[in-house]
Amino acid sequence: MSRFDTYFLMKEADVIEYVKAKYPDFFAPEAVLTVKEIGDGNLNYVFRVIEEATGKSIIVKQAGVSLRISAEMKVSTDRNRIESEILQIQDKYAPGLVPKIYGYDTVMCACAMEDLSDHALMRYALMRHETFPRFAEDISTYMVNTLLKTTDVAMEHKEKKAMVKSFINPELCEITEDLVLTEPYNDCNHRNNVFPPIADFVKKELYEDEALKLAVAKIKFEFMNNAQALIHGDLHSGSIFANEQGIKVIDPEFAFYGPMGYDIGNVIGNLFFAWANKAYTGGSAETQTALEQTIRETCDKTAEKLAAEYDKLVTFPLYRAPAFRKAYLDGVMADSYGYAGTEIIRRVVGDSKVIEVTSVTDPAQRLPMERALIDLGIYLIKNRAGGLNGAAVTEEFRKILAEGRGTHGQNG
Ligand code: ADP
Ligand code: MG
Repeated sequence: MSRFDTYFLMKEADVIEYVKAKYPDFFAPEAVLTVKEIGDGNLNYVFRVIEEATGKSIIVKQAGVSLRISAEMKVSTDRNRIESEILQIQDKYAPGLVPKIYGYDTVMCACAMEDLSDHALMRYALMRHETFPRFAEDISTYMVNTLLKTTDVAMEHKEKKAMVKSFINPELCEITEDLVLTEPYNDCNHRNNVFPPIADFVKKELYEDEALKLAVAKIKFEFMNNAQALIHGDLHSGSIFANEQGIKVIDPEFAFYGPMGYDIGNVIGNLFFAWANKAYTGGSAETQTALEQTIRETCDKTAEKLAAEYDKLVTFPLYRAPAFRKAYLDGVMADSYGYAGTEIIRRVVGDSKVIEVTSVTDPAQRLPMERALIDLGIYLIKNRAGGLNGAAVTEEFRKILAEGRGTHGQNG
């Protein structure tokens, strides 16, 4: 009997013993180890175990039975299995773009993985004005490879259906369905967290716009019913590590078979927060242009690589027909812009906020910034199927910034 034969939530002191018991060959038997809990997420506990003498280290991530943010919200610990398996699958489809998984343990709901502490999380790095010239190239490669290769146009159908089954993830999907794709438009569970000076604007522009709500209903239905690809499910800039050498994507515990556009849209949407933050807090024109460029390239490289990979991977003659190919690829990009819009809006009015918004405490900056982001989100949702591309969406945001629609809004 080991102490780790029954689930319990580990404290720092337990984790060294855990690593020695479960990964006996990772460190030398005499190694002196130190441990620190470094998690900053809402759901899980992340421990870094390091041997100071050699610098060798390992990450242990354990799923709790309830959310860190709310003891009342219970979520299945199966998400840790899903996360570990997805990272292993993605390492095959997009080699080098995710951390190595050393093992996972369905009893303790914990996995051990490569320590990426020599990388920075994109969200914080962008706030510090750091730029990563490889970002658009690498994130588009990651998305196209992990997404298109797991679809019916590229994969054996029975194998795909077995994957759909293995990665059914109802509880985590419900979080997205409620918090991203419902509540920002009606606050039905009173969980929105609206910056008070913008409350009237939110009521008119989000809660009372029936055309917008119809569009969001369709987008939500797509999320729930389009088992298109094995998606990451939470691909925001806090799930992407980057350094000069490239990127590593972590934290796919929301993964399931859903629309590819959800991942692509999350990446695009989150990049806009960095730009908005710089635009309203006196960021230099140079930083803003660099962010704009990153957004354009991310949109366009993703669309280009999707098309190129499609031509390489797809062999079934009916799917190779030019009109089908165009409809499929256009559909993915339309979804992507729609989900970019829903991501932007939910981070502004929902409870799960981003630092790019919350760190702006001066209402004279925060109010117009939030309005501008909401305007952009609405534009993306309503115009998602209008053949958008990197230039169109960045020019739209430039227009919103310049015309001060964020300042004066349609609602005064
Ligand atoms: P959650 O599922 O709770 O959101 P994350 O997987 O996002 O947890 O991890 C929380 C934090 O722990 C990350 O923001 C990052 O700072 C740190 N972290 C997670 N995985 C690693 C890793 N492999 N290497 C280094 N730090 C990590
Ligand atoms: Mg996270």
